[in-house]
Amino acid sequence: MRDLFIYNTLTRSKELFKPLNAPHVGMYVCGPTVYGDAHLGHARPAITFDILYRYLTHLGYKVRYVRNITDVGHLEHDADEGEDKIAKKARLEQLEPMEVVQHFTNRYHRDMEALNVLPPSIEPHASGHIIEQIQFVKKILDKGYAYESNGSIYFDVEKYAKDFHYGKLSGRNLEDIVTETRELDGQAEKKHSYDFALWKKAAPEHIMHWPSPWSEGFPGWHMECSAMGTKYLGEQFDIHGGGMDLMFPHHEAEIAQSCAALGHDSVHYWMHNNMITIAGKKMGKSYNNFITLEQFYTGQHPLLSKPFSGMVIRFFILQAHYRSTVDFSSEALEAAEKGLQRINEAYARLLKIQPAAASTIDVKGLRERCEEAMSDDLQSATVISHLFDSAKAINTVADGKATLTKEDLDELKDAWKTFAIDILGLRLEADNAAAAGQNVEAYKGAVDMLLNMRLEAKRNKDFATSDKIRNELTALGFSIKDGKDSFEWSL
Ligand code: ZN
Repeated sequence: MRDLFIYNTLTRSKELFKPLNAPHVGMYVCGPTVYGDAHLGHARPAITFDILYRYLTHLGYKVRYVRNITDVGHLEHDADEGEDKIAKKARLEQLEPMEVVQHFTNRYHRDMEALNVLPPSIEPHASGHIIEQIQFVKKILDKGYAYESNGSIYFDVEKYAKDFHYGKLSGRNLEDIVTETRELDGQAEKKHSYDFALWKKAAPEHIMHWPSPWSEGFPGWHMECSAMGTKYLGEQFDIHGGGMDLMFPHHEAEIAQSCAALGHDSVHYWMHNNMITIAGKKMGKSYNNFITLEQFYTGQHPLLSKPFSGMVIRFFILQAHYRSTVDFSSEALEAAEKGLQRINEAYARLLKIQPAAASTIDVKGLRERCEEAMSDDLQSATVISHLFDSAKAINTVADGKATLTKEDLDELKDAWKTFAIDILGLRLEADNAAAAGQNVEAYKGAVDMLLNMRLEAKRNKDFATSDKIRNELTALGFSIKDGKDSFEWSL
């Protein structure tokens, strides 16, 4: 298997990836909190870890990819006070919280499908793992790194910091953390402002709560990832990913929870994607530059000149390395759209080139160069530049200025399919056309099958079934002409 180097945020260095249990790889990525539509900021981690998932699979690993749905415990201010984001939405719109969760989960899936982000192997909900979270809290309590206060359980950061390094992932020390959290002080139940909740007693108006040994309440946000990560991937697993904004406090807290409960960190490689800014500014509702993916797809936002497809957004994000910042503007997306168009056209032309007796141009080595780039901490931008170079060569051949043998053509087609379509996950139009062709065949086959079943029913004098099939197909817009023991149909 080819060597893969990935940047481990914990050691701040590129490391040779060595899975614990090759060829199996366990990978956990923090998913969305489903209380609103996914926006551009959700697209980046989804795409980053999608290409990692695709590339690991390409290298021959069997990846168990867990990406959670946060549907409880993520509070409005990210501190331990404030209202649960989903409960608040449910209260304001007079919905059952699970209606909110289902609604935005469905929309998240639709948005991810438009970005061609593959579904994870397991997509666990925090609300479906309350028992596991309570057990995890119990372990931490048993080890003495948490305390109860008024029915809530808090992580004892000071006690923990005596035995372990709190802040090792984000590079913070306790003094920095004290300064950062002082603003949020006034949380009378805690020993220290930096202690975080593992379990919160629910206030009477809080609509999402479960029984526990300590109170009727709900788990703290950080707890779900520790509990679900170890449930599905084991007490030690390979990769944990997420956006850089989750490094502190979320991932730092996860490390602390694991070390406190298990005596060691669960994760071998911590990976973080950088953020997307909009005209140099952080994205957020308060900045008025918050663009949902749906707004991109429809073009309905003042910052957008026109609609942009999921593929253009994907291509735009992949044009930068995942650890660099990306600054969004409508112009930058338009440029990405043109770039993607060049890739699309070259691929479509490649599929039409006729082989010749000799190659008069060197197109060898594309696969190796792309693999080298991906194996160096997922340099997707370099893969794209190799594809652009290859597109030039393809255009030269397609214009009749050079020729390629069948062998060279086949290798080139295969390298494009592997890297552009399978690994970068670009839905190229020529590829779409082939898929659409297959869809048409499948649908014709299905209609023929139904009408043959109807014929069979008529032969058996089962007129109820025969009429039902005809009526339902007619209602769908098909017109059916019956012959003597035969049929014709059209739409
Ligand atoms: Zn998480």
